[in-house]
Amino acid sequence: MMDIPLTVTSIMRYGTSLFGDKEVVTCAGPEPARRRSYAQAGVRAARLASALRGIGVDGDQRVGTFMWNNADHLEAYLAVPSMGAVLHTLNIRLSADQVGYIATHAGDYAVIVDESLVPLFAPVLEHAADIKHVIVTGDPARLGDHESALGGPGRAVHSYEELLAAAAPSFAWPAIDERSAAAMCYTSGTTGLPKGVAYSHRSTYLHSMGPCMSNAMALCERDRVLPVVPMFHANAWGLAYAALLAGADLVMPDKFMIPAAITALIETETVTLGAGVPTIWGGMLAHLRAAGGDISSLRLLVCGGSALPESMMRAYKAEFGVTMLHAWGMTELSPLGSVAHPPVGVTAEEEWEYRASQGRLFCTVEGRLTGDNGAVLPSDGKAVGELEVRGPWITGSYYKDPAPEKFHDGWLRTGDVGTLDTGGFIRLTDRAKDVIKSGGEWISSMELENLLMGHPSVAEAAVIGVPDEKWGERPLAAVVPVEGASLTTEELRAFLAERVPKWQVPERWAFIAEVPKTSVGKFSKVRMREAYQRGEYAVIEAR
Ligand code: ADP
Repeated sequence: MMDIPLTVTSIMRYGTSLFGDKEVVTCAGPEPARRRSYAQAGVRAARLASALRGIGVDGDQRVGTFMWNNADHLEAYLAVPSMGAVLHTLNIRLSADQVGYIATHAGDYAVIVDESLVPLFAPVLEHAADIKHVIVTGDPARLGDHESALGGPGRAVHSYEELLAAAAPSFAWPAIDERSAAAMCYTSGTTGLPKGVAYSHRSTYLHSMGPCMSNAMALCERDRVLPVVPMFHANAWGLAYAALLAGADLVMPDKFMIPAAITALIETETVTLGAGVPTIWGGMLAHLRAAGGDISSLRLLVCGGSALPESMMRAYKAEFGVTMLHAWGMTELSPLGSVAHPPVGVTAEEEWEYRASQGRLFCTVEGRLTGDNGAVLPSDGKAVGELEVRGPWITGSYYKDPAPEKFHDGWLRTGDVGTLDTGGFIRLTDRAKDVIKSGGEWISSMELENLLMGHPSVAEAAVIGVPDEKWGERPLAAVVPVEGASLTTEELRAFLAERVPKWQVPERWAFIAEVPKTSVGKFSKVRMREAYQRGEYAVIEAR
């Protein structure tokens, strides 16, 4: 067979020529959405590459982005890897010193910044002295307003549009080794310091085909895809490149991430597939119930990043006829690991059990479970252990960080605990760092949370382990009631007692205003444990 490298360049060529009339739509809030065809995005990507070459990007320099999901970001996704440089998506929700640490660790040479994010990015520069160029999107006439905030000794500030206008509309895309780096992303650091993952062209190409598989999301030309999951974290689950391969349109939320705007975008742009974390779709569900809206164009709402409560899935189906697809992944996995379509031939009720699981492993992702001493456990759906994975779109190391504790005989240790069955279905019970061990038995915080969030008066619930004299550790359930609802611990304990063994029902409860979240909207157990230790939770003891 011909040894043709699998590259982002080929994804770009294919999508912007064969599907040149497909479009990337960028939400502009109350203004009409901005529309750009893939052909136009392709020409602008060539101009961007020419412009970057003009400011010294001539090798594998890291070009950062500090941007929302929009058409400009897509151009960076296409141009930067295809010119042989490395796209480094920076997480706009981290603190300035964290972003600065990450940009410096990655060695970012230039960063493209969304105009609306200039105030957030300016303080980053104090912590990232090595950035030589800052390129600001939006109207060049406003660049003057930003120059003083972004400029500095040895650092130039440019207008993105001005650079593109002055650059050549074509670019001699180089031949690229498929094993060279195309992009990098840092983990969100939910359980530790962020670690850098460098994706190769090959891994990116293979991963982009993942969502197109019919057993996954079956992305195709008829789709209009709304990635609410950010392009700055875990590659928007591969959907930007997958849409180009499938010839699907992209509908981008830009900075309009509130439920009303997302609902309106689905309705006006007849979105067929949306992807986001549970907090996003939970927010939209509450909005739809309160204010209504037409989401009937959707054929699939993909949801992952943290556990999707079965109750939410059932509610979308029953109230709006929309199917949710639960997915599991990690930054280290590019990020897709598994999706939860029920297998053929099971009963309607069993289907829900499969849909609520973390899903079946992708064909490129091998999984196994290991026990305390690293011994491999059977994948029989019963043994509980840490999930380890390996495959061609899974990182084999971290950037400039050996982290031997994260690898085991060529497998990546996911830090996720649960079961794996012979059909390749994963059922997670916890993150290793969050497990609750009560009297030698494990209690799944994920299961308790999912059940509690199925209670009609519970908006959010998160469970952490807290020290207990008798049992070593016991669960503490922190609950955010639905606005206006009155909730009692007796009611919640009775609700759980019908669904889990009695000894798993928490005795410690706290009603809180909001569950603290990480930069990508996950429950932050680290911050919860800190708040508990500082005595910030008014704990109710109920037995
Ligand atoms: P971080 O580890 O910093 O949060 P990631 O976004 O890469 O960064 O998170 C990956 C982790 O998110 C997984 O290891 C797992 O713990 C959690 N996760 C992802 N999807 C799911 C899911 N469907 N159910 C439960 N946990 C999930």
